[in-house]
Amino acid sequence: MKRVGIVFLLAGLLMAGAVAADEPKSLVRLTGLSAAQRQAILRQGYDVPRVTRTALEVVLTPAEAERFRSTGVKVSPIIEDLDRYVARVLKTQKNGIEYYTYERLSEQLKTWSESHPTITRLHSIGKSCEGRDIWALKVSDHPELDEKEPAALIMGGTHAREWIGVEMPMAAIARLLEGYGTDATLTRLVDEREIWFVPVVNPDGFVYSQTKQKYWRKNRRTVDGRPQGVDLNRNFGYKWGNTGASNSPSSDTYHGTGPFSEPETQAIRDLAEREHFQGSISFHSYSELVLHPFGYDYNVPCPDEKTLTTLAREMAKFNGYTAQNSADLYPAMGDSDDWLYGQCKTLAFTFELATTFIPAASQIAAIADQNVPAVFHLIDKCGTYGVTTPTGDATLARHADFRTALDAVVDGTSLLQGTTAPDRQAKIGSALRALGIRLADLVADDLAQDRHESEDAIRATPAAAFVLEMLADRQAFERAHTPTGR
Ligand SMILES: [Zn+2]
Repeated sequence: MKRVGIVFLLAGLLMAGAVAADEPKSLVRLTGLSAAQRQAILRQGYDVPRVTRTALEVVLTPAEAERFRSTGVKVSPIIEDLDRYVARVLKTQKNGIEYYTYERLSEQLKTWSESHPTITRLHSIGKSCEGRDIWALKVSDHPELDEKEPAALIMGGTHAREWIGVEMPMAAIARLLEGYGTDATLTRLVDEREIWFVPVVNPDGFVYSQTKQKYWRKNRRTVDGRPQGVDLNRNFGYKWGNTGASNSPSSDTYHGTGPFSEPETQAIRDLAEREHFQGSISFHSYSELVLHPFGYDYNVPCPDEKTLTTLAREMAKFNGYTAQNSADLYPAMGDSDDWLYGQCKTLAFTFELATTFIPAASQIAAIADQNVPAVFHLIDKCGTYGVTTPTGDATLARHADFRTALDAVVDGTSLLQGTTAPDRQAKIGSALRALGIRLADLVADDLAQDRHESEDAIRATPAAAFVLEMLADRQAFERAHTPTGR
């Protein structure tokens, strides 16, 4: 009897805990905050999807909302019950116009890899906490080889509820495969890049939010006997810590027991360390932003500031979003961009899609139309801007195709003009020299066969003088070292 009693007592405690973790939450707008209150909220690790000059949009439990009210803050509900909001979105889906489920997505990736075997490879890059495959589809010519082409990582679904972020990589894959062989630009991207898509970084959370009709952000890590979850976008290992993140397992921004404690973040880490991505996008929702690192604190000096801001603005032109530094939204430690950029020197961006967590399924196509061109721009530019970052080692420049090398010289020349840090100038300068030599060699090959297209293409760019000088040097060198007779 005594033992039964203890079991009952334990069960009761766990139940109470489970209720607390699954407590319905609201999305609210907080206004009338003092500057100090605002800063405190942003640093404390609340889930803050939108920040404006006068308001914060924050996810709160009823008790938290009450606490704010009692201190005189104005709390206006935007979405009263987030679980019901999730259920509502699911109910309004029509056959054929609906969000991917994990099952359909897994099937689709397999179908694509079978129907396009010469340009795709499907990999499972790890298993989630609950044992689901974390899928990565590589799209490139000779997908079985590491051809040392500029590489890009396109991911979604880090946060469970942000289903629209899963749709963007899927839409980009569909367009690449459809356009390969017919669309010149897309064909070139597949041939000259190695593109890795991870549409669902957090499959357990994704499945949970869809099948249980739950508003849920984290993975499904069991903590203290129940699935409280870890915020994967606070679990990456560069400046992992407590700013904009929480050490409390019940918090929506719980950062886990240590950097990379989660199998889902480990999977991304291992892939990135192996593939050396020049560029990446992680899709989240919401706010219509293109964010660039660093995000862990305000005003962190960033040697690639010019490159990151330029590329962010270029992408924002495609989707009409606002480009901004991640910490200027609010500082948060342990996100994927800071690690990808800080550790791997990947030009890493986060897109905050749309104006709500889960737009109606009828909007998916329009949001994809808006954002997929920006994805292709990143994939293209990771071969040119990426050459001047430390991951863009000399191999990339030496193997670049003509178009990539020429674009990189043009981009690099303009970056050099806006760069004042001596080490960055040296890095860009050495990349430019390697690229100039590569271009000169490609032109020389063409001229030897009496083809002048590449020379003409160079003459048409602002980089003409630099490359032609390099070409003249190479020709003079060749002449000086070519035996001309006895
Ligand atoms: Zn998110």
